[in-house]
Amino acid sequence: MSKTRKQDRLRTLPAMHRLLNHPRAQKWHLQFGKNDVLAVLTSTLDGIRQENNDEEVDDWIDRIFQEAELAFERLALQRLQMVINATGTVLHTNLGRAPLAKEAVDAVIDVAKGYSNVEYNLLQGQRGHRHDAVEALLCRLTGAEAALVVNNNAAAVLLALSELASDRDVVISRGELIEIGGSFRIPDVMKMSGARLLEVGTTNKTHERDYRDALEQGASVMLRVHTSNFRIEGFTQKPTLTQLVALARTYDVPLLEDLGSGSLLDLQPYGIGDEPTIAQSLQAGVDVVMFSGDKLLGGAQAGILCGKKVYLDRMKQNPLMRALRVDKMTLAALRATLSLYLEPKQAFARIPALALLTASPEHLLVRADSYKNQLQEKLQRQIAQGTMTVRVVPCVSVVGGGTMPTVEIPSYALAISFRSFGCEALLECLRRQPLPIIARMEQKEVICDVRTVFTWQEEAFIDGIARACLGLAGESTPDDVD
Ligand SMILES: *Cc1c(COP(=O)(O)O)cnc(C)c1O
Repeated sequence: MSKTRKQDRLRTLPAMHRLLNHPRAQKWHLQFGKNDVLAVLTSTLDGIRQENNDEEVDDWIDRIFQEAELAFERLALQRLQMVINATGTVLHTNLGRAPLAKEAVDAVIDVAKGYSNVEYNLLQGQRGHRHDAVEALLCRLTGAEAALVVNNNAAAVLLALSELASDRDVVISRGELIEIGGSFRIPDVMKMSGARLLEVGTTNKTHERDYRDALEQGASVMLRVHTSNFRIEGFTQKPTLTQLVALARTYDVPLLEDLGSGSLLDLQPYGIGDEPTIAQSLQAGVDVVMFSGDKLLGGAQAGILCGKKVYLDRMKQNPLMRALRVDKMTLAALRATLSLYLEPKQAFARIPALALLTASPEHLLVRADSYKNQLQEKLQRQIAQGTMTVRVVPCVSVVGGGTMPTVEIPSYALAISFRSFGCEALLECLRRQPLPIIARMEQKEVICDVRTVFTWQEEAFIDGIARACLGLAGESTPDDVD
């Protein structure tokens, strides 16, 4: 195409102020704000200017707005927003791990909306301590002498080792040098803290005498890490917690335990793994346990340290504390969540992570059947024509968050497939719904596990699936759905 023809074609492009003031831009101004609208329209125009295309365009405005619409759709999907988790993974790290209990949400709103006494002692009318909000509750629930909260469990491990093991040798079993979610490796965090790693034993077997030898050589801290995200089976061995505690006493060194998920309640009666509880570890004599606030505990992202006062008092004074300290909203959520544990029955009913994990398959089957019926009604024609199928199938939910990888929880799912589209297309349509739905693929069907779909999301869930399916079937008028 000649340069002048290209110039002629572009001469008719509308000016930016016309686009900005166009009625079609109004909804974008409201949704995205002036700067984003300007940026998207500018890059749309730039794209058109660079085209090597001499097709005649009758209506530049229409063409530009169509392209900008797609750009705004992409922009909208990048925002942090609520989604529907239909993956069946209860503590899905990519989807924000534990959803908060209503009590916790209310508490967050309460302290976020106005001022709070997060570091102010109302009794004495002077500066107070941030930990006070949750320390007493944590001690009551775990039997610990003292407790401390930081940003996440990785931070808890970093703080504990920095305070107790900087420039010292920490003995740890080679079977426990784990990596969690790619960016958190126990050996790396240990090095960051200034501690020297004294690895003992082998991947599958570590003996009591291995620890003893290390302590004889002068190791001054013992670290045990709960290998929560994998399981080695077969020819394995490691000392019991009781044996480690005895060694720690003999050599007068602190024994730290990274519990990972750390459950406050015994989940075994519900058929969910054999995770040790925090109280059990402390009772066995561990000096400091560390665990996450947003895994099995079901609260906000946090790292919690519980244990002996002598050690926790030192950690509270560590300068790192300032860098790792938690926000008032985290403390509010955590406090409200912990309060629910005072009555275990209430915890299972009110804390979403626990309620979702323990929902009975019979209940889930009834819900899945009802969803299927509603979808069959909305998608009557497409199903009758053989364009698509919707079935209820048994499936397996998992705990997630790197917790109890071998535990399989029986559940039920909607299985959806299209005759002439692959699963990827439907999964994408589901993600693009006003309340995005995240599902998974299994043997050429899209699987929506109902365990992790909240009952209060049901309407959006059904409507979203129906709209996605109608869109794929080429009938994407929202009116069809209602
Ligand atoms: C999940 C986990 C961590 C990291 O916890 P975050 O709260 O995500 O920082 C550390 N150790 C173990 C054993 C874990 O399972």
